[in-house]
Amino acid sequence: MTSRMARIISGTEISRTMRAEIAQKVAALAAEGIVPGLSVVLVGDDPASEVYVRSKTQACEDVGMRGRTLRFPDDITQDELFGVIDGLNADPEVHGILVQLPIPENLSYKAVLERIHPDKDVDGFHPLNVGRAFVGDPLGFIPATPAGIMEVIRREQIPTHGKHVVIVGRSLIVSKPLASLLMAPGPNATVTLTHKYTTDLASHTRMADILVVAVGKPGLITADMVKPGVVVFDVGVNRVEDETAPRGQRIVGDVDFAGVSEVASAMTPVPGGVGPMTITMLLANTLEAARRTRAPQLSARATS
Ligand code: NAP
Repeated sequence: MTSRMARIISGTEISRTMRAEIAQKVAALAAEGIVPGLSVVLVGDDPASEVYVRSKTQACEDVGMRGRTLRFPDDITQDELFGVIDGLNADPEVHGILVQLPIPENLSYKAVLERIHPDKDVDGFHPLNVGRAFVGDPLGFIPATPAGIMEVIRREQIPTHGKHVVIVGRSLIVSKPLASLLMAPGPNATVTLTHKYTTDLASHTRMADILVVAVGKPGLITADMVKPGVVVFDVGVNRVEDETAPRGQRIVGDVDFAGVSEVASAMTPVPGGVGPMTITMLLANTLEAARRTRAPQLSARATS
């Protein structure tokens, strides 16, 4: 029997196209005297955060934006961090502010995120933006990962109307905003959210026309848990030991790629799928924030 292989959806390729589009819009805005600027606040010395922050600021530079990292030791007090955020809120050259999570436990991430001005909250984590996104208000910044998945769905013309989307995970960063975007008029999907306490996860995942997995557990979804023809978005990022890899480790998602790719019709790989799209949508949000400082009433979404 010959096995069928799913079409691999390259987030890297889509990102390349989008970043070229964004770079053109950044250049046009810069010609008006506005250079979009993203400031990333990094507290502590978590190596994974260092890598994420570097790729975000590098991506800014690559499209002609200002990307700046502000580093602080993990004993910074909440008031000191508030002072930093207040300074960025008031700085006209800063259009987007992002506090890299996680932050040390002595700081309240909720209070810190609420300190960021909603107009500069390009991560979309401020409660005002969460609410705006939930009610479908275009002024809300949509968190970058769900925005990236929606952009892939649009650009790859993956049908959602009347389709059953099953999302594994219920986080505020990925799953809940994605559910609300997909069930909205327009995409018109029927959405099921599952989590750690879901009974018989496979009975849900097998019903999915589109399956999104955002958990952080390698190999959670196996071939027997999906129906033939499903489109799979693997959001998970996990480091696993691999003696054959140059550093003894490699990055995998939550989905057993080899097995599921023989059943699915299309799927995103890890790395090179949802990850690059996340950074691209952060750029799009920062561009949008900068455009709004020019003429809020005329502003259109950066990706439109
Ligand atoms: P999170 O906040 O830890 O949420 C994980 C979710 O998975 C929780 O809702 C949890 O359920 C659920 N879960 C845990 N075990 C489960 C199981 N056995 N069956 C079903 N659901 C289960 O994580 P997150 O921030 O959403 O991130 C998820 C993964 O995506 C991580 O690997 C992260 O690194 C990755 N990620 C990647 C990107 C990217 O750009 N590629 C962006 C964001 C996140 P409970 O709520 O019941 O605990």
